[in-house]
Amino acid sequence: MLNLFDTQSGAIKPVQAEDGKTLRFYCCGPTVYAAAHIGNFRTFVVQDVFRRVVELGGLRTKHVRNITDVDDKTIRNSQAQGKALNEYTAIWTDKFHTDCKALNCLPPHVEPSAVGHIAEQIELVKLLMEKGHAYQSEDGSVYFRISSYPDYGRLAHLDRQELDLGKTANTRADADEYEKDSVADFVLWKARRPEDGPNYWPSPWGEGRPGWHLECSAMSHKYLGDTFDLHSGGVDLIFPHHENEIAQSRCACGGESARHWFHVTHLLVDGAKMSKSLGNMYTLDQLAEMGYSPAALRYVLAGAYYRRPLNFTLSGMKDATSALNKLARFDKELAKACPAAKEPTYRDLIKNRPEPGVFQPAWDSLEDDLNTPEALGHVFSAIKSIKPAELTPAEAEATRRAFRLIIEALGLQLPDPDAEIDVPADIRAIADERWAARQQKDWAKADALRGRLAELGWAMKDGKDGYKLTKA
Ligand code: AMP
Ligand code: ZN
Repeated sequence: MLNLFDTQSGAIKPVQAEDGKTLRFYCCGPTVYAAAHIGNFRTFVVQDVFRRVVELGGLRTKHVRNITDVDDKTIRNSQAQGKALNEYTAIWTDKFHTDCKALNCLPPHVEPSAVGHIAEQIELVKLLMEKGHAYQSEDGSVYFRISSYPDYGRLAHLDRQELDLGKTANTRADADEYEKDSVADFVLWKARRPEDGPNYWPSPWGEGRPGWHLECSAMSHKYLGDTFDLHSGGVDLIFPHHENEIAQSRCACGGESARHWFHVTHLLVDGAKMSKSLGNMYTLDQLAEMGYSPAALRYVLAGAYYRRPLNFTLSGMKDATSALNKLARFDKELAKACPAAKEPTYRDLIKNRPEPGVFQPAWDSLEDDLNTPEALGHVFSAIKSIKPAELTPAEAEATRRAFRLIIEALGLQLPDPDAEIDVPADIRAIADERWAARQQKDWAKADALRGRLAELGWAMKDGKDGYKLTKA
């Protein structure tokens, strides 16, 4: 059984389905105003590994992940580009799906959007108004009164004394995002403002639009009920987003909201926070232009322990490429040793779960708070001592299925180790130049260019009539 850290209790707890069969969980989805960056994808990939470990461990799942298609950012960008909100967000929703597929993330079972659930959000505000947890302010917007919910701050472990809910009576936050030191009544329904353009809806409190926090309460309630098994997002969502969600859901609908809170620590780039001004906000497309595959990124994101910051570097991507090649070569040798056996697929491994055998320590690490780097360590030490060619077909098949159990739990995409790999144009140009230098017997130049290729992560093997490039 998977044991996982729970933000609310501050302890590692077993992940349990209330009905013993299907784990029902909610993940906050992307805000579709631009391409998601690799930090966002750290969270989505870790959530995917979580789901795979749960499913391969024998539970079914119901995975709900929303699309945030109405908020300050989607409205601002769609207006700036002169596009209708739905036309604009459809572009980035499609892009998100394409990137998720490239990263081998399983699609959620339900993917509701905020714009598709305006009526449900209005219903929730009505309930909060009726029960005295919300009020309309002089600017026409509706706010949640946090002093009406004594448990406010429990998830984020806000200091109860410092918080002193009584003092929040006259402070309000109408922006979607704010910091811990500005705990305040937060907006549920934003009154229509000129900068929102045509993006407003009628409501009992006048024209306007929902605040960001409201959508996840409305959609988790609709698809998972008032108590469900687990809720997840990046650590930046603990406060205020998830704190506000808990307050809204519990006050409007009763129930416990989520029983387990699972948060993913942030990804940093070269040791620094990602930001546009530092120019270190990579997208999948930018990495592809530099010659790095989504499979390598998946390895980097899935292979780091989710409770520690992950420091993304391009050299880490090169290491990931060679690690994947090593795993792929081992898989291919095992396949050769059991030629009649079926290719093990994710679905098939769920249906007929293999005994992990020598990979049991790796599986145990996965179930121990998703310790993926430790699991990979066990995989690499196990494969060192296995010689596929010496196994009987039955042994090779059992070993391959056990190996693939771990590979599939991590969602790693193994390349064909013998396939001709895509060589980026700039690398090809250096290699051609080196080949020409060799033909002219300019050994010094050829050596220098070989060094240059090695720095870029490529090895060049010279043949009689040409050369072959491999990832170093
Ligand atoms: P957003 O599209 O901004 O709503 O974010 C989508 C998901 O990415 C949320 O779960 C965020 O918490 C998460 N996220 C944002 N930045 C990072 C980061 N640098 N590292 C990991 N997760 C992140
Ligand atoms: Zn959310």
